[in-house]
Amino acid sequence: MSKDPILHFINGEYTAGTSGKVFQNINPVDGSVICDVYEGLKPEVDAAVSAAKNALKGTWGSMTTDERVQILYKVADGINARFDEFLEAECKDTGKPKSLARHIDIPRGAANFKIFADVIKNEPTEAFSMATPDGKGALNYTIRSPKGVIAVISPWNLPLLLMTWKVGPALACGNTVVVKPSEETPLTTSLLGEVMNEAGVPAGVFNVVNGFGPESAGAYLTEHADVDAITFTGETRTGTAIMKAAAEGMRDVSMEMGGKNPAIIFADCDLDKAVEGVMRSVFINCGQVCLGTERVYVQREIFDEFVGRLKQGAEGLNVSHPDDEKANMGPLISMDHQKKVLGYYALAKKLGANVITGGGVPEKTGDYKNGAWVEPTIWTGLDDDSAIMREEIFGPCCHISPFDTEEEVIERANDTVYGLACSIWTENLSKAHRVGGQIDCGLTWINSWFLRDLRTAFGGSKQSGIGREGGVHSLEFYTELRNICVKL
Ligand code: NAD
Repeated sequence: MSKDPILHFINGEYTAGTSGKVFQNINPVDGSVICDVYEGLKPEVDAAVSAAKNALKGTWGSMTTDERVQILYKVADGINARFDEFLEAECKDTGKPKSLARHIDIPRGAANFKIFADVIKNEPTEAFSMATPDGKGALNYTIRSPKGVIAVISPWNLPLLLMTWKVGPALACGNTVVVKPSEETPLTTSLLGEVMNEAGVPAGVFNVVNGFGPESAGAYLTEHADVDAITFTGETRTGTAIMKAAAEGMRDVSMEMGGKNPAIIFADCDLDKAVEGVMRSVFINCGQVCLGTERVYVQREIFDEFVGRLKQGAEGLNVSHPDDEKANMGPLISMDHQKKVLGYYALAKKLGANVITGGGVPEKTGDYKNGAWVEPTIWTGLDDDSAIMREEIFGPCCHISPFDTEEEVIERANDTVYGLACSIWTENLSKAHRVGGQIDCGLTWINSWFLRDLRTAFGGSKQSGIGREGGVHSLEFYTELRNICVKL
């Protein structure tokens, strides 16, 4: 992979912009510098928003839905045609195993263009005929118009997947976008610019400005008066700052934020499946998945056995570099994040947790010593009101607590400011439905985790988010619904 600096992508062209500022993109596997990245400030954001505004009224806006759909299919094909380049870039930026990104991140990145092209192609229109005093009546029908220039602010944990999850529907609905990828992971978003050009996406429809949040590209973009709506995925604290910026000018927001998700394991579950599901939900992507489990509640009858089995599973994980096809987990995203997660590991010990496994840094040799590695970690013995049980850690760790009754576990699972996801493990289907309907979160899995049909509604309640994206639900955010009333 080339070490050339990462440029912005504005109006169909790569540019360094005028800020003259660069920052380093660091490989979390060994702390080495992958490349420099140009930082965008006000002038770069202004140029990108202006290009997006022009394309909205010009090229993209004048195309038929079908013409746009055909181009988006080409974008999906373009990602697949350059699959290995995307895979290499994503794993370099994040340190995640190639075996994981090959099955999740890159295929989903491509699918996000195809599926939303299909959604918009098949979207029906509603119509109502009404009576009028002259007896001739009137006809109402609705049309969907693009909302305008959409700011896309994306995180680092699933960079291509989560960015395209927003760009796909935004473009399908006829909007234009300015993307601000995470400063930790600019590579695949940059590569997507080339695919857009190859697919024939007109200049200005897809723009990228790199940089940070406050006093940098992120804040300038969300504050820009010509941005019509903002879609954000990231931390709840950042989302709060962005909502304040969006209030100016009454811009709409879609917010996908943090979680502290519970898994509920009843004594009548299929234990093998429950252990396997909870293992994935805690440790996949080094625990850096918003839907991941950090609180596990296990019915007392099987508590000891479950803890023993999860410990065995965690100790069998291969924490290794992206090219190791047998790797189950890579490093965390950065040394800063490693410091945060290790801070929670130390806090758990200080609070008196039983450290069932992990709690430190795995032994590494050579350059890998400089990477952001942490051990898969399991605790028991803490109260529900400890910081370990209340704050999102975003690392490969969980706390396991025993429970006795259904009512008790529902109350404890809901005792959080977050409401993103949960998983419930039981062979009693009535109980599964009954409990599932009472957990206050956007996504409930029964005897599974992270099974995603992209047509379904995705999003969180409470401090985990506002709005739903996915399938036709994305249309609510990415379009304005207009009613037209025709007097007959
Ligand atoms: P983050 O909030 O630190 O950053 C997300 C993005 O916001 C980055 O691009 C960042 O540069 C930008 N940003 C930061 N401050 C800003 C500001 N003031 N104005 C504009 N932009 C700003 O999040 P992260 O650390 O990249 O990602 C991890 C978080 O994302 C976790 O909390 C996780 O739960 C959450 N997440 C949620 C979902 C979901 O669907 N609900 C999915 C993935 C991740």
